[in-house]
Amino acid sequence: MKPLGPIPTGYSAIDGVLAVGGRKVTDWVDEEGATPLFLYSADLVRSRIAQLRTALPERIALHYAVKANPFAPLLAMMNGLVDGFDIASGGELEIVRAAGIDPRAVSFAGPGKRDAELEAAIVAGVTLNLESEGEAARALAIAERLGVTPQLAVRVNPDFDLKGSGMKMGGGAKPFGVDAERVPALVRHLIDAGADWQGFHIFAGSQALDAEAIADTQAQTLALAARLTQEIGQSPPRCNLGGGFGIPYFPGDTPLDLDLVGQRLAEAMAALPGKIESTQFCIELGRYLVGEAGVYLARVIDRKESHGEIFLVTDGGLHHQLAASGNFGTVVRRNYPSAIATRFGAEPEEEATIVGCLCTPLDKLADKGGFPRADVGDLVAVFCAGAYGASASPASFLGQGPARERLV
Ligand SMILES: *Cc1c(COP(=O)(O)O)cnc(C)c1O
Repeated sequence: MKPLGPIPTGYSAIDGVLAVGGRKVTDWVDEEGATPLFLYSADLVRSRIAQLRTALPERIALHYAVKANPFAPLLAMMNGLVDGFDIASGGELEIVRAAGIDPRAVSFAGPGKRDAELEAAIVAGVTLNLESEGEAARALAIAERLGVTPQLAVRVNPDFDLKGSGMKMGGGAKPFGVDAERVPALVRHLIDAGADWQGFHIFAGSQALDAEAIADTQAQTLALAARLTQEIGQSPPRCNLGGGFGIPYFPGDTPLDLDLVGQRLAEAMAALPGKIESTQFCIELGRYLVGEAGVYLARVIDRKESHGEIFLVTDGGLHHQLAASGNFGTVVRRNYPSAIATRFGAEPEEEATIVGCLCTPLDKLADKGGFPRADVGDLVAVFCAGAYGASASPASFLGQGPARERLV
């Protein structure tokens, strides 16, 4: 038997069936008329945001990194709950605008922004987090041609990274941001060129569960912002401190100590030099806001045995939940939290491997987990499906098409 990841808090059973948003998942599936289905719990997102507001210093604004989950109803709900949105493409700009989000609350990072994307963002009044001097030159030229003042921030490639993070995005040679030592010259150039300089974006990594590591990185980030401010001689209107707050996906993972992060951040902010006192700081979070609020549901289509092992074959798979199959940025495959949704809370009775319907051995949702007995027609739940699920999986693979999604 291989262990399963920890099921996030906030899930319970009604009559032995997993409940989301106060109803049995079987009710939601019946209403939708088909599986596979992603369910996103509005209550769980709201309570996570409330926890953050309580734990973090009041001065810290909260941004949502749209790439974690760009589902339109979710974005529309987020609109009243967070202070800003971070996008990473022109496509996401269209998505946030369609959701009714004010482009002035949006910042746009990401390498390889095309001229058309820069133009759309500048016209809309979105803040561009510039990734290079070359991108800065293109943005300035486009703004001049259009006769508008661009909102420009500089993404800094910090000279440190977030220890223990799943994805390092700073420290050393990187395609992201401008190396810290070249930032003051670029900022002075932007100001001289007449741009509305918006400040810094400093993002050092993702998916960290170690509060001390996050706190150390935030302290380093603040110190770097202060040093850059000193060199530039003008304080940044805004400073995005990055994020990197992780969620437990795998056996042995424990939740982030949010209170410790908040305490240490308050201490680091209290120690800031005067020059940076008027700066509006924010953090940007994706998976921490929405990851644990999502469940992926698939139906068991076949139950079979091979060489003594039980396989539950579902109508879902890696084309919707690439990360749960272990093929999205993980080195060793480990089990996501999963359960038989129609026997939620029942004791494990057998070892079974839950697979998808794709004709590839990669398509595993749970490998040799302990589950109550499931048969054809039962529903399987894969948790931690609220971030990097539907939009980060190859839905067209094998002609399968996208899953249904619903905010409840
Ligand atoms: C992907 C990304 C995020 C979100 O990361 P999470 O791990 O989902 O919180 C935030 N900021 C930037 C710059 C990113 O690239």
